[in-house]
Amino acid sequence: MSELRGVGIGLGVAQGPVVRMAEAMPAPENTPSTAGAETERARVREAVATVARELNERGEAAGGAAQEVLEAQAMIAEDPTLQDEVDTRIDAGATAEWAVHDAFAGFRATLEAVGGYLGERAADLDDIAQRVLAQLRGVDAPGVPNPGHPFVLVARDLAPADTALLDLEQVLALVTTDGGPTSHTAILAREKGIVAIVGVGVGAQLVTGETVIVDAASGVVTREPTEDEKARAAQRAAARQSAEAAPPTPGALADGTPVALLANLGKPADAADAVVRGAEGVGLFRTEFLFLSSAQAPTIAQQRESYRELLAAFPGKKVVVRMLDAGADKPLAFLNDAHEENPALGLRGLRALRASEDILREQLTALAEADAETDADLWVMAPMVATVEETIYFTGLAREYGLRTAGVMVEIPASALLADRVLAHADFASIGTNDLTQYTMAADRMLGSVAGFQDPWHPAVLRLVREVGDAGARLDKPVGICGEAAADPLLAVVLVGLGATSLSMAPSALADVRHALSERTLSEARSLAEAALAADDASAARTAVATLAAELPLHKKETTS
Ligand code: PEP
Ligand code: MG
Repeated sequence: MSELRGVGIGLGVAQGPVVRMAEAMPAPENTPSTAGAETERARVREAVATVARELNERGEAAGGAAQEVLEAQAMIAEDPTLQDEVDTRIDAGATAEWAVHDAFAGFRATLEAVGGYLGERAADLDDIAQRVLAQLRGVDAPGVPNPGHPFVLVARDLAPADTALLDLEQVLALVTTDGGPTSHTAILAREKGIVAIVGVGVGAQLVTGETVIVDAASGVVTREPTEDEKARAAQRAAARQSAEAAPPTPGALADGTPVALLANLGKPADAADAVVRGAEGVGLFRTEFLFLSSAQAPTIAQQRESYRELLAAFPGKKVVVRMLDAGADKPLAFLNDAHEENPALGLRGLRALRASEDILREQLTALAEADAETDADLWVMAPMVATVEETIYFTGLAREYGLRTAGVMVEIPASALLADRVLAHADFASIGTNDLTQYTMAADRMLGSVAGFQDPWHPAVLRLVREVGDAGARLDKPVGICGEAAADPLLAVVLVGLGATSLSMAPSALADVRHALSERTLSEARSLAEAALAADDASAARTAVATLAAELPLHKKETTS
């Protein structure tokens, strides 16, 4: 038996046979064909027909939007213009492999030059070309394999297109060698509730066919597990499933301290699922998600309708709506379409709203009207607030519209460090750990090359959270967390230890976080927070907390073991 370690996503556990995802293939060499044009052409025809058939079959099995995507890919594979391009190269003496590689690359460049919708299809061509090449070479196609039985998927990392098509009936668990806790794969795994461990550096050792246990709670992949280990893992998985199926209870620590568990939502249609999963309200409604593709500012009537639908889903419950957050990763053409060298440091969030105050006023009007028609407890907040002056500006404006509870997002170190002054004017603070980490570590959250810095476990980030937590406690003002950090069950306990009074997350994370909180008292959460604060870096903080947590007694009957 041996163990491989990485970062677990959630608290799930699963076991099954490994199937490795094939890596992208190297480009073929341009050596002249020895087989002759006729043979090469026949090889391509057969390979293309097989790939198109497989894509159609996979589409039929997947159904819905995935079917449309895959059928479109099959059509591209068999496109006659593309076929002519391949033939031209073969007639000039190329091998089937080179002709496919070169013709698809040329077609890709043409699509990219056209731009728009066709430009967006350019990446699909790479995938199809790789499939045809794999067929020609007689090797497994890259991308998510389909072995015909449930399996543990082991990959370097997953492309968004791969993750979107993951068949949750077949993929028992996911292990990646690359990627961190805020990588795209991790976020998606969390959202879909897939048992996952990311960043298992030595995961390349795992071979197709071997049985492993993937324990996200401890971040451990166990190779060659004993029968006893397999039985215990199966028991835990079953217990967790029944815990998830049980009616959810309000979030609370083991000593009864309440910690409201709220949902992060991007559209009203997702409210029903959040309610079923026991969300006690909404901690972050990202209003900009409603209008990302709009060229013009939404009208008051359009907005009122969306907000009314959202609020109506939470009668008597708290619903925190964030004002339009434009800029950098969330471009809104109607709020800021200027080119900026550093958009993350530019006219974004509240700054952009202030520059178009009419849009901010219209949003507040729509919210006040929706509030008047519904029974939810509406709280409003401004994104990316940096100063006390901005806090006074926004809360003053919100109150002008009769909105009772107005707060700010703490996502910039400046507002965390001055949290006591900020909270003297705001009714509450909500910490956006995604941006707070980005700005504390000076690491663009969109940039893969610095993803290692984008870790909310970093003690520097946690010290800023403590500043806000302490200020909230002194002034008796609520302090919520609404970044990805709140969805990490172990970190969620630490955040409560640092003074968070509510946690908001993707609804799929609620069950695991609820369970993690129920195992710790407030004084234990504070000790765990101290252990994290005393570490030198993010990974040391995570290890210190996991080690201390393993030594603490469990207060509630464990539902996952
Ligand atoms: C955050 O920055 O943590 C946050 C919750 O806001 P967003 O991810 O939408 O920027
Ligand atoms: Mg943010």
